[in-house]
Formats: sequence, C-alpha cells, structure tokens
Amino acid sequence: MKITLLRRSCKESARLITARFDRQLPLADRIALRLHLFACKACPGFERQVRLMDQAMGRWRS
Ligand SMILES: [Zn+2]
Repeated sequence: MKITLLRRSCKESARLITARFDRQLPLADRIALRLHLFACKACPGFERQVRLMDQAMGRWRS
C-alpha cells in the first residue's frame, strides 16, 4: 500500500476523529488517521478534545 493512499488532510482527519465515536472505521481509515495524528501538530489536540467531550457526555449514545 502506498503511503499517499493513507494521506489525509486535517479536514478529513477531523471528520474521521468525530465519526470514530459513532461507528467503527474501516482499517485503512484508522491507519490513515493514526498516521495523520502522528505527523500533524494540530489534530492530536482536537482528537483529545473530542474524546474528553465524549467522556463528559457519558454513555447516552449506547
Ligand atoms: Zn491535521
């Protein structure tokens, strides 16, 4: 698999970060997101915020 296939923009990554809490992402998306979070300076902070917010809202989703 070429690395370019796994490249995501910050906008796409933000969408994946949000979607991940609602549904299971395909493996390629999860790998791509992990790679992006590793390479990007801004998105890990957003990911942490979303996770904290998700925890704060509790388990009402399920
Ligand atoms: Zn990013």
